[in-house]
Amino acid sequence: MSEAESVRVAVRVRPFNQREKDHGAKLIIDMQGQLTTIKNPETPSEEPKKFSFDFSYWSHDGFTERADGVLEPTAGSKYASQPIVFKDLGQGVLDNAFEGYNCSLFAYGQTGSGKSYSMVGYGNNKGIVPMTCDKLFQAVNNNSDPNKRFEVSFSMLEIYNEQVRDLLSKDKPKGGLPVRQNPKMGFFYVQGLKRAPVGSYEDIEAQIDKGTANRTVASTNMNATSSRAHTVVTITFDQIIKDPTGQEKKKSSEMNLVDLAGSERAESTGATGDRLKEGANINKSLSALGNVISALADLSMGKKKVMVPYRDSVLTKLLQNALGGNSKTIMIAALSPADINYDETLSTLRYADRAK
Ligand code: ADP
Repeated sequence: MSEAESVRVAVRVRPFNQREKDHGAKLIIDMQGQLTTIKNPETPSEEPKKFSFDFSYWSHDGFTERADGVLEPTAGSKYASQPIVFKDLGQGVLDNAFEGYNCSLFAYGQTGSGKSYSMVGYGNNKGIVPMTCDKLFQAVNNNSDPNKRFEVSFSMLEIYNEQVRDLLSKDKPKGGLPVRQNPKMGFFYVQGLKRAPVGSYEDIEAQIDKGTANRTVASTNMNATSSRAHTVVTITFDQIIKDPTGQEKKKSSEMNLVDLAGSERAESTGATGDRLKEGANINKSLSALGNVISALADLSMGKKKVMVPYRDSVLTKLLQNALGGNSKTIMIAALSPADINYDETLSTLRYADRAK
């Protein structure tokens, strides 16, 4: 993988939700190839704004639902199904892991825009995380090389108000778990974070369910449960290879799958007090992440003397080793198709555009 390919940005637009249908919402997004356009509903005669991404995924219409709930494209439609998104984005993550490189996959967007759908999926419409894990364990279980064995472990944490909580643990230490820096290697880590060994995707699913139940959610006007924390799932994949002299060598790779807190700005969610403080912290770490990814994109364009500001937030500190260098970074920005979300959707497109 070349440096230039190390950051990939995709956008994906979902179908109207019930709230949008009830409002008689109008479609303001269009996609053709890599191009995504958005119309300002207040100035309909104006040219739509244009953006270009590595992938523009249309999932607004052009699909049917099978008896088992799986959404499939109708003939000739441009609907991007879960398997298509996996093929474009997840497969590379997997290949990277086998080569021993790290990766970070982010889902960005306002609450309800489709982040979880792309990452984890719903019902039989499995998202990138389960499909990637499934394929990983297929490869592990089909291994017939007696000189090779694999170890996979799982951790899940959330960053809420710049504090880290272990989602696999019921304990809630005051002030969160400490984030420390390894004095020799320089990387940051969470002291005391649980790592669960896993042997199948079912094991991972059980851990995700356990972690999800511990997540911090709060009510805002936008949605009954709006995620106000960043959730980071880390799958550590070790390949232990025995050389002809019998010595074992370990090739390690870390896959970080990050469901970012809803990007909605405080004004539109009716937030006050603690909620407003959360909003400020969320914006701080989302902008720190945006700055890091955009600096990495500059580096990969051959610009020298670029400072990558990893230290500006807990999220970017923890992901430092899985962003840049040989690591693969993928961002999926989730979009609402509706005129009533114009401001938020435009700000999501601008965020994704900066990351290129
Ligand atoms: P978020 O994680 O950003 O809060 P969700 O992923 O929960 O949002 O999506 C909100 C709703 O939209 C869910 O009911 C989900 O099933 C639906 N949805 C999101 N993306 C798609 C898609 N690409 N195709 C079909 N339905 C989708």
